[in-house]
Amino acid sequence: MKFNIPKEVSQVTETLNNAGFEAYLVGGCVRDLILGKEPKDWDVTTNATPEQIQKIFEHTFYENTFGTVGVVNDETEDLKLKTIEVTPYRLESEYSDSRRPDSVKFSDKLEDDLKRRDFTMNAIAYDPIKNELVDLYDGQKDIKNKTIKAVGGPEERFGEDALRILRAVRFKAELGFEIEKETGKAIQKMASKLEKISQERIRDEFVKIVMSENPMKGIELAHELEILKYIVPELEEGIGSDQKGAHIYTIWEHNLRAVQHSADKNWPLHVRLSALLHDVGKPATKRFDKIKKENTFYGHEVVGARMTEKILKRLKFPNEIVEIVTKLVRNHLFFSDVDKITLSAVRRIIANVGADRVWELMDVRSCDRIGMGVAKETSYRLKKYHSMIEEAMKDPVSVGMLKINGNDIIKNLKEKPGPKIGFILHALLEEVLDDPKLNTKEYLEKRADELLKLPEEELKKLGEAGKEKKDEEQEREVGEIRKKFGVK
Ligand code: ATP
Ligand code: MG
Repeated sequence: MKFNIPKEVSQVTETLNNAGFEAYLVGGCVRDLILGKEPKDWDVTTNATPEQIQKIFEHTFYENTFGTVGVVNDETEDLKLKTIEVTPYRLESEYSDSRRPDSVKFSDKLEDDLKRRDFTMNAIAYDPIKNELVDLYDGQKDIKNKTIKAVGGPEERFGEDALRILRAVRFKAELGFEIEKETGKAIQKMASKLEKISQERIRDEFVKIVMSENPMKGIELAHELEILKYIVPELEEGIGSDQKGAHIYTIWEHNLRAVQHSADKNWPLHVRLSALLHDVGKPATKRFDKIKKENTFYGHEVVGARMTEKILKRLKFPNEIVEIVTKLVRNHLFFSDVDKITLSAVRRIIANVGADRVWELMDVRSCDRIGMGVAKETSYRLKKYHSMIEEAMKDPVSVGMLKINGNDIIKNLKEKPGPKIGFILHALLEEVLDDPKLNTKEYLEKRADELLKLPEEELKKLGEAGKEKKDEEQEREVGEIRKKFGVK
């Protein structure tokens, strides 16, 4: 077996060899090579110390506590090959708090380094110069049999670092492998240890499950193994919760089918998370309508958006992701109410979620539909929405697209700079969203002049009219709707 290794990678091991050190590729990249998949990144392990590694390469950086040195290749622009991570052989560290190793101990023996790795498939080393595999735990056999098996005693290994439990589930979703029996038993026994693992580490593995080809299976498995409660317990509220009406699946299954569709379409992380969480507020808002004799979920998108924000913040997702996903969940019902979809409503939704997000809102909606077991959106409706969005995009949908700007108001109407200018621009946008023909310099200047005479408070209200309403206001509205329908 001869693997195809980029020269940027073999150069690194060769340079280490030439300086008298051992060097092997190890971990995920070797596993992927054996599987015939393209590795996501390349990791090198060596008996050289961080200081020695830094000495023999021209451009390196070293800013972590695990001994990993980034070796930078200045000649390539390929991000995957630009930095190769070189880590000295390490010993299994103590994880007394199940969070992070107490200390990192280096070793001069490859065996020590392979012994500390999580699964046999990830514990194979490869020397690209000699074209030689070092496989002390029969990892190749397990890869061939599609088996996820702990290196050494599984209970002990999960006890050292419980994140490995979640990694096993992640690899099952990603690779479609089965978990070996003893390893599976240990997962069940040790699952509660995940409680102590940091949210950041949990998030990284959760993201890989969501980004895999089989997020539905992965999340189902996490539930079966009783570890989903350490990731997104809110999803479990939907288990067994039937919906009736157009829905044939429980809330739980609906959410999973929705995220699976986003994976089948290979959509990006924020769309997948939105698909997974779009109905997370349903169990909390479920009420029985005695007259209609069916369940209702008024305001589930408002409650769901709040829950989404909390979940993603808890998992320490970057603010940008939190914001986008919360917005998509909050607005996910938009394209379901055919009657409400007028051109001005479309302009408004674009003003709210942003021009680049409105297509993603359509994607989330298509996940919702497919997740309901509805075969496909009728192409007529889809085409209609598409053309409406394109049409609406031609009209002004943001303050920046108005024919006058803040400076015009300051200069021509002699107003002082200040918050009032912003309120006026937003109030003008409100009018233009309703009627794009009003977007002329003459009209807007005349109107701005009139608006300037209004008290600041009133202006502010006008400017905010079309923005998403405040949470409390929305909750009150939800309450009122419920009263009207005789549900609590
Ligand atoms: P991917 O291809 O998704 O990057 P990977 O197997 O390379 O998967 P990484 O998180 O990049 O996963 O880790 C690289 C290697 O480090 C693993 O293959 C494994 O050998 C080892 N490893 C990572 N995390 C752990 C852990 N918690 N316990 C033991 N070994 C680990
Ligand atoms: Mg990796």
